[in-house]
Amino acid sequence: MEQPPPPKDVGPPRQPDLFCAECGYDLAGLDLSGDCPECGALIARSLERTLGNASDDYLGKLSFGLLIVLVVTLVSIVNQIAQIAVSIASAFAAGVGGVPLKYADLALSLLGITTIFLAGVGLYGWWLFTTRDPGLTGRHDGTTARRIVRISIIITTVITVGSALNQVFVPMNAYAGATTFNAIIVGAIVLSIFSIGAWVAQYLATMLYIRWLADRVPDVPIANQTRLYIWLLPVLYVVGFACAGIGPIISLIIYVIFLFQVRAMIERVRAAGPTPRPETA
Ligand SMILES: [Zn+2]
Repeated sequence: MEQPPPPKDVGPPRQPDLFCAECGYDLAGLDLSGDCPECGALIARSLERTLGNASDDYLGKLSFGLLIVLVVTLVSIVNQIAQIAVSIASAFAAGVGGVPLKYADLALSLLGITTIFLAGVGLYGWWLFTTRDPGLTGRHDGTTARRIVRISIIITTVITVGSALNQVFVPMNAYAGATTFNAIIVGAIVLSIFSIGAWVAQYLATMLYIRWLADRVPDVPIANQTRLYIWLLPVLYVVGFACAGIGPIISLIIYVIFLFQVRAMIERVRAAGPTPRPETA
C-alpha cells in the first residue's frame, strides 16, 4: 500500500538519506537550495524533519486515523457495557427464575457482530495513524515503534474478532457445564496471557510512537505526557483494578483524553503549515 522507494546508491555521504517531505522522491545529490524535481516542493523543507514540514496528505492520514481510533474506542466502551449488562441480567434471571432471559443470546450475538465491525474499523484507524512519512526513509522514521503498534494491533484485532465470533456462534448456555473441560480453560488462560501481552506491547509502542511524533513538532508537553503515562497508566490500571475496578476506568479516560490532545497537536501542526518559502529577489 505504501511501499517506500527502493534505496538507491547515494553519491555524497553528507546526505545519506534525504527524501522529499512532500512526495518521498530521493533528493540525494541535488542542490539543497532548489526544488524537488518530482513535485516542486522546496528541498530545504525536507532538510528540517519537523512534523510541520511533512506533507499535509501524510498529516491528514494521521489525524483522520486517530479520529477513527477515538470514535471506535468510545463506541466500543458503550458496546462493552451493553454486553456486561445483558450477561448480568441473563445470569440474574437464570438464578432467580431458573430460566435464562429469552433474547439474551440473540442480543449478545448482535453485540458480538458489532464488536467485529468495530475491530475492523479500529484496525483501519490505527493503520492510518501509523502511516509512514514519505519524507523519512531509512533512519529516524519511527519505524520500530510504528511497526510494533501495527503488529500488536493486528494480533489484538484477531483475538477480539475470534472471541466475538465465539460469542456469536456459541450460545452462553454451552459454557454452563464447562468447568470440567480443563482443555477449554487452559486454552482460555493461554489466550488471555497472549492477549494481555499484545495489549501491553501495543500500549507501550503507541506511547513511544506518539513521543516520536511530539519530538518532531516539537511539542514538549505531549512528549512529557508520554514519559509519564507510559508507566503511570499501567500502574493505575493494575493497582486500581484491585480497588473496586476503578483503575481501568480512570486510566482509560486519561488515555482517551490524551489521544484527543495528540490529535489536536497534529491539527495545530497542519494549520501552521510548512516552513514558508523564502522571498525570491
Ligand atoms: Zn517532492
